[in-house]
Amino acid sequence: MVLQALIEELGAEESNLIKTIEAALSSEELESLRVKAIGKKGSLTKVLRGMGKLSPDDRPKLGAAANQARDRVNNALEHAKKRLENAALEAELKIQLDLSEPSAGLSLGSSHPIMQVQEEILSVMDRLGFQRAEGPEIEHDFYNFEALNFPHNHPARDMQDTFFVDENVVLRTHTSPIQIRQMLAQGEPPMHISGYGRVYRHDQDATHSPMFHQIEGLWVDHGVHLGHLKGTITAFLETLFTPETGVRFRPSYFPFTEPSAEVDMSCVMCGGSGVAHDPAANNEHGKCKMCKGTGWIEILGAGMVDPNVFGAVNFPKDIRGFAFGIGVERVAMLKYGISDIRMFYENDHRFLSQF
Ligand SMILES: [Zn+2]
Repeated sequence: MVLQALIEELGAEESNLIKTIEAALSSEELESLRVKAIGKKGSLTKVLRGMGKLSPDDRPKLGAAANQARDRVNNALEHAKKRLENAALEAELKIQLDLSEPSAGLSLGSSHPIMQVQEEILSVMDRLGFQRAEGPEIEHDFYNFEALNFPHNHPARDMQDTFFVDENVVLRTHTSPIQIRQMLAQGEPPMHISGYGRVYRHDQDATHSPMFHQIEGLWVDHGVHLGHLKGTITAFLETLFTPETGVRFRPSYFPFTEPSAEVDMSCVMCGGSGVAHDPAANNEHGKCKMCKGTGWIEILGAGMVDPNVFGAVNFPKDIRGFAFGIGVERVAMLKYGISDIRMFYENDHRFLSQF
């Protein structure tokens, strides 16, 4: 029977093709097999040429058998394609999981420049004999103002643009409430502390941020006088900056110290001469931009602790002490020559990774 013979030929050709397809190793090989099997001159098509020898009844039977064979070959091609794709993916994954491969390099994080400068200042104060102390950032009016000789309705409260939580609770405007808490906790002198942390004021421009960092020193002991304050601050600034740093005191006013002083140091840009070595650091009049040609820049506030403060914490009447406070951002800006305080808080990795 001719039909039977042709169908057997078809079957043999089909199983032959499927075996070859299953053994194929590349997609190129697969494509040439596809052409060879079901293209116009393909081996399955070739069997259909025997159609003429068949009776009209048998022809559709051979056609149906050929279609089925072609479907199975197509399936085999589809499977082989997936198999090759999976193998390629697995090979790629194997390479990615090769733990012995050298890495592309990791970028390590570092502490924020403000934290670095804070640590630097505190470590200088450690060496001068101050002990570190912290306190809450949300503070009672008593610790932030009242005990520091800012009576209610005193105009000095307007010096500090305060964020109020409610009538008697504020975001601390300075680190001085730490002094009060420490003195009350210890109950008696002596007291040698460096209070530090975040403080808040309603103020924002290129040199002020609503949140910034302060560090202050408090030294309370019998016989402490203005000379100790001057010597300590001079040693502090000479260590923090350079041994050549010039220091001068100007009379000022703070509610919690009497007498009070603003402390200036020689300009870090021009070394105190008023004219910077680098012409780009000078203004159009040829004067240093940083100090405007004066040779001095303001760096901290200081003074002898007001007796009213000791009264608020029940320290003996004859006790003496000095205190000074410094802005961490201010020091960082001077040390690194940064003119806009906001750069510290924009979290720009390109800026922060320079320190
Ligand atoms: Zn200068």
